Amino acid sequence: MSEKVLSIDKTTVQMLDKAKKDGVETAWDRKEILKASCGFGLAGVCCRNCTMGPCRVSPVPGKGAERGICGATADVIVSRNFARMVAAGAAAHADHGRSIVLELLHTSPDGAIKVKDEKKLKKVASRFGIETEGKDVYDIAHELAQAGLNDFGRQYGSITLPPTVPAKRKETWEKLGIVPRGFDREVVAIMHSTHVGCMADAEEMLRMSMRCALADGWLGSYMATELSDIMFGTPHSRPTEASLGVLEDNQVNIVLHGHEPSLSEMIVQAAEMPEMIELAKSQGADGINLCGMCCTANEATMRHGVKLAGNFMQQELAVITGAVEALVVDVQCIMPALAKLATNYHTKFITTSPKAHITGSTHIEMDEEKPLETAVGIVKEAIMNFKNRDKSKVVIPNVKTKAEVGYSTEEILNKLDGVVNSQIGPMQSAKPLADVIVAGVIRGAAGVVGCNNPKTVHDEGHLEVIKGLIKNDIIVVVTGCAAQAAAKAGLLTKEAKELCGPGLKKVCELVDIPPVLHMGSCVDISRILELVGTTANHLGVDISDLPVVGIAPEYMSEKAISIGTYVVSSGIDTWLGVVPPVTGGPAVVDFLTNKIEEWVGAKFFVEPDPHKTVEQIVERINEKRKKIGI
Ligand code: SF4
Ligand code: SF4
Repeated sequence: MSEKVLSIDKTTVQMLDKAKKDGVETAWDRKEILKASCGFGLAGVCCRNCTMGPCRVSPVPGKGAERGICGATADVIVSRNFARMVAAGAAAHADHGRSIVLELLHTSPDGAIKVKDEKKLKKVASRFGIETEGKDVYDIAHELAQAGLNDFGRQYGSITLPPTVPAKRKETWEKLGIVPRGFDREVVAIMHSTHVGCMADAEEMLRMSMRCALADGWLGSYMATELSDIMFGTPHSRPTEASLGVLEDNQVNIVLHGHEPSLSEMIVQAAEMPEMIELAKSQGADGINLCGMCCTANEATMRHGVKLAGNFMQQELAVITGAVEALVVDVQCIMPALAKLATNYHTKFITTSPKAHITGSTHIEMDEEKPLETAVGIVKEAIMNFKNRDKSKVVIPNVKTKAEVGYSTEEILNKLDGVVNSQIGPMQSAKPLADVIVAGVIRGAAGVVGCNNPKTVHDEGHLEVIKGLIKNDIIVVVTGCAAQAAAKAGLLTKEAKELCGPGLKKVCELVDIPPVLHMGSCVDISRILELVGTTANHLGVDISDLPVVGIAPEYMSEKAISIGTYVVSSGIDTWLGVVPPVTGGPAVVDFLTNKIEEWVGAKFFVEPDPHKTVEQIVERINEKRKKIGI
């Protein structure tokens, strides 16, 4: 492998060195072996939607093959490929949301999963028009779950939008015909329209993509977040630690990786059982150390302060430390390479979901009837594996960073209450946030989200963008693997206010918050929508009027494409640090980076340079401020 800089995270560099010594490969090696990506795929002009193809058309207009065998142009092929990415990303969130809804349907006062946040249950239920007065909590929960399920499979009308969606935004969507109907229907509709001989109009294809993505943001992800809070608790700020150095030398290390909180919640409960701790001690360990990876980590840390071992590109590195007894996964963003890698160490790679079997793993399927029993079984597997740890192979990086996590929308409003005179009020309102934005004490707000991608220097995009924004008095909220990058770099601490411009620094001091707020996992981007919508409603404007932006500096997944599409469709300008596979379709590029703004008041920007990204954002935010006269 060449000696170019692969990561700015020290523990990553250290573990890549160890990987070399241990003779094991990582995603970076595989990227190197694959050499340059195919130019047709990069530009999005390769189609294999039927067996007349594959067809590769020229990404340069007027040069080479201009149509596939069926006659599809580059723009049609690119738009169909883009739509399928949106559908796949949205489907991942739909299925995640659906399983959370089903869990709510099966909650019971004596079951493993109960209702933890009654207040939130009633709030969400009334949004669905469910009567809550004098009703049993579990009856409400089951009715809400049923209403949610109906929206996933709805055949008539449209999904239930939360009141957070400003009236003007709803009107815009209605006018454009992009209010989502049933969620599953939108995914199916895209798969239908992208079939050979169906949709051959790039703009209409993109309109469908927007409608499907909106179902993701405002239903699938939204319900996943809201109902997880109802069952597992709405997060509040709490301390944790981040980096691969959170693995412990003499404890049973269990790394939770994947997405759905149900698995991690059960494992947390199991790992805290006194008999499990005793069992660990009987095996010579001091205890059980739970850590998280990717979005499962974000879920578990938001509610329990579980330590953050790392983000997407570090999943293999956790195993390479030689100190992980069990890597327990459910769905999404799990590299299949882990199965082979784990055979070089004592690590048990345990899959748990019927949706994500991985050849070579140990599969212990989560029994939905007895989730806690399954979790106990998994924790036992990890404990009994402690004795197999080969001490000569163990290297745990000596780095741990303090972080503050748990900033749900509710927690942010709680914190804002701290600067409101309770005799005057209003309490639990976005007014203080709106006030400092209007006054210009802070210039605006940004959501930095998304994955890692070996096409970029690991974590660099996230950190440079975040640091640049807070320096310019733009408050940052983070989710997903961006959140973990921020945590590892110490940006999720109150001390990070020293990196801020004077206005943001003052706000952090007064409200007693870090300048970068951890809002959770990828589905929790719906929390950002909730906060932005609440602020827009408070000011009586549309979301697209607010000086608010979204950025995915190192994204890689189809989920991120869906997220970007619903964020833009919701009226928030979005910067992508990795070029999406659309460059071969000039009309598609023009639509996404230009024309879409006429439709929804926001557009995509593609900028791989994080410093230029910050400059563009500051400029755009200043323009927006001017436009609404603040
Ligand atoms: S759908 Fe058209 S462009 Fe795609 S593979 Fe078939 S013939 Fe080729
Ligand atoms: S941010 Fe991206 S890589 Fe990380 S967990 Fe979410 S989708 Fe997966």
